[in-house]
Amino acid sequence: MAKKDAEQAKRVLMPEQEPDVRKRNFLEVPTGYTPEMAVAEAERCLQCKKPQCVAGCPVHIDIPGFIQLVREGEFTKAIRRIWEQNALPAVCGRVCPQEIQCEGECILNKKGTPIAIGNLERFAADHERMYGSGELPPRAPSTGKRVAVVGSGPSGLTVAGDLIRKGHSVTIFEAFHKPGGVLVYGIPEFRLPKEIVYSEVNFLERMGAQLVCNQVVGRSITVDELFEEGFDAVYLGVGAGLPKFLNIPGENLIGVYSANEYLTRSNLMKAYLFPDYDTPIARGKQVVVLGGGNVAMDSARTAMRLGADTVRIVYRRSREEMPARIAEIHHAEEEGIEFFLLTNPKRFIGDERGRVIGMECIRMELGEPDESGRRRPVPMEGSEFEMKCDLVVISVGAGANPLLTRSTSGLQVDKRGYILADPLSGKTGKKGVWAGGDIVTGMATVILAMGAGRTASDSIHNYLTWGW
Ligand code: FAD
Ligand code: SF4
Repeated sequence: MAKKDAEQAKRVLMPEQEPDVRKRNFLEVPTGYTPEMAVAEAERCLQCKKPQCVAGCPVHIDIPGFIQLVREGEFTKAIRRIWEQNALPAVCGRVCPQEIQCEGECILNKKGTPIAIGNLERFAADHERMYGSGELPPRAPSTGKRVAVVGSGPSGLTVAGDLIRKGHSVTIFEAFHKPGGVLVYGIPEFRLPKEIVYSEVNFLERMGAQLVCNQVVGRSITVDELFEEGFDAVYLGVGAGLPKFLNIPGENLIGVYSANEYLTRSNLMKAYLFPDYDTPIARGKQVVVLGGGNVAMDSARTAMRLGADTVRIVYRRSREEMPARIAEIHHAEEEGIEFFLLTNPKRFIGDERGRVIGMECIRMELGEPDESGRRRPVPMEGSEFEMKCDLVVISVGAGANPLLTRSTSGLQVDKRGYILADPLSGKTGKKGVWAGGDIVTGMATVILAMGAGRTASDSIHNYLTWGW
């Protein structure tokens, strides 16, 4: 397609469930491209000689290459091209912040609308899952070396996938009873169906990776014991799942949850299907979610699906500073979530039975930029007001769980408890131990966790092969 035509051609939108319908069910919101839609969108791509989209992708997928294959109807070849750089395309096509990565850099941004790279990536991966041959990629002959991967989130799964292909034996240890990390216990079903994550894990198992669930490394077995058991290298991809709290009065009232607990109950324990599943969940009618990130949007949209009459997001800065993806904010608004911006809670109010019934808030204004570069929210004296609620979800960030780091001698951590690892190799200060993903960077993104996994797996392979 000529550049001018591509600029004028409309981006092929992915069909979605209507907001009024989807806000009461847990089915995925966008329903996917048909092959005709995918080919039509792929035809808009200019096949740039110096593609900026690739520069914007943290794992440098050959974007014009796979889009060209989609355009030719070569869907199997397209997914194989993506797999060369990305082991979890069905996941990344759904949850990566494409608008600030590949799509943000697409030349068509200047005039017109960028190519829907994420939608095409998702299409290629879904098509393979539904209609592909299930053929496994080639695996190098066995090296006899054993690697323990601790944590089965996107960084751990990437390391496992890379090393198993290179002929090493890989065992993944996961604390929960199901693999997938935040992809399974955090991100809700309506954004990322669990079946997709399990099929990616199943792919690794068919390649020969061993998965051991219900194993908290640092408690059931230590890192040093893994070496004693014969592992040659250990990768730590344990994420940053320890919830942060506000430390204000009333935080212990019944009905005040951390987003971590709220989402884990709903997602991993399938509490939204209670009583068919064992785990119950509080179904508030007037729900307040505190925070402005993806986790807050996921919590608010989950509360709406669990039957709330009103769901309010209370955030201390303005809309421009909200860290959530634009698409998630838009989806939340469409589903009737209300936004109380420049507002901060001072205390939670309880009834005589210790249940939360309200919250005292104060209005904020923006002052000078703080160390994060965002303007600091400053309380406006005398602007206090009360807001009724019967369920609160606190979603103001998460940190490092010290369980594993404290039980592992020789590991160095920074002052917030994140593991210190060389960004170019993932090596930690302890011989034979690598780390990556959220436990090194703090909570970031799926693709950055995968990128860290890829860096570490290259370094582990060199160590196992050449000793460096
Ligand atoms: P995790 O995904 O946290 O996985 C770590 C795993 O290690 C977990 O399964 C944990 O149970 C296990 N583990 C921990 N300790 C131990 C131990 N001692 N022994 C054994 N196993 C252990 N990113 C995006 O790019 N897009 C999004 O839309 C997005 N939405 C998000 C929504 C929510 C609700 C949350 C919480 C995060 C979201 N993120 C999103 C961030 C993203 O999910 C994370 O950055 C990413 O999952 C980090 O991957 P990881 O492999 O480092 O860790
Ligand atoms: Fe295609 Fe946009 Fe990448 Fe150019 S920058 S190759 S138009 S996706």
